[in-house]
Amino acid sequence: MIMSTVEQLPSPDFAAYFAHSMKPMDYEVAFIDELNKELPSSIIDAHVHASEEDHFDITKAQTILDKSASTFPETTIEQSQQIDALLHPGMSVRKLRFAHAFRGIDHKAVNDYLIEQSPVQDRVALFGVSENDEEIEYTREELLSGKYSALKMYYCSTAEEKKNLYEYFPPQVLEIAEKVAVPIILHLPKTVSKSMDEIRMLVQDYPNLRIMLAHAGVTWTLPTDFDTTMAEIAGYKNITVDTSGVTNSAIIRATLAHLGPQRVLYGSDEPLNLLREFTYVNPVKGPRLLTDYPYHWVDPQEYDAYKHLLPENLMYCELQQEDALLVAIRGLVSARKVDAHVQAIFHDNAQREFNF
Ligand SMILES: [Zn+2]
Repeated sequence: MIMSTVEQLPSPDFAAYFAHSMKPMDYEVAFIDELNKELPSSIIDAHVHASEEDHFDITKAQTILDKSASTFPETTIEQSQQIDALLHPGMSVRKLRFAHAFRGIDHKAVNDYLIEQSPVQDRVALFGVSENDEEIEYTREELLSGKYSALKMYYCSTAEEKKNLYEYFPPQVLEIAEKVAVPIILHLPKTVSKSMDEIRMLVQDYPNLRIMLAHAGVTWTLPTDFDTTMAEIAGYKNITVDTSGVTNSAIIRATLAHLGPQRVLYGSDEPLNLLREFTYVNPVKGPRLLTDYPYHWVDPQEYDAYKHLLPENLMYCELQQEDALLVAIRGLVSARKVDAHVQAIFHDNAQREFNF
């Protein structure tokens, strides 16, 4: 009898993915140029992931390999700087970096890597772990060390997915974050509109805790009650949002209209900002991404069935995000106020929130 005990694993070629992403199309080069003219010469990106090859164990990551988030689990600080040279040539880009959130990443090792190797002009967010008392103690001690400018924790960074906020942001950790005035980066499992009970609880329990809602609290599409949600969020003065991953200018516009320019921070979600992505609504699967390369998470049949929807000039997500931000700002304020808004969102707010 032939034994087949070895599990079949996909073997993504991450180096090839990165190489592909670093080759801009001519129309992207032109648009990069056009967008950068609108931005301050010095910008701060408040949402960047980094890690080295040794930090990722693909055998522990099977359940995320069907998601686009798993495209670049290995992006070093050096590669991050190459991305800057591509997307913002000649400009100063400072970054708040932290580990990829998903399972399979050795989050403690990435924390060490970033603290040791991060360029002085950049900042590091602690990736907190909380599977047991020992990990909670680790997270508390690291927070108390004063080395970190923010704290990220996530609902599915380990095998068991967490449902409730205080399961993945344990109170023992939040009380330290509040005490040492380190803001948390909150990526909600559900859209913000469906998480308001938890938000209310959080701001009530930790009145001095600063909270940055990642991805403006949304995933891909604009929730119908988003406007009402942002109106309520506006009342919680310690909440800011980052714009990472948001390519829909209506989402940014509603966020800006309610929170004002001081509480919206540019974030790129690097390295995922390198994906050329297009969102469409699949009749069976709901909102889905289409892209330009056979990454391991792409379903070839789905791709063949829907590739005709792809725009001719499919661009890096980064360019779609920047464009959405600029469109939202221009749509909301008079021409003479645009520059001040851009300066706040692309630089000053992150400088203030994360001690740059
Ligand atoms: Zn992210």
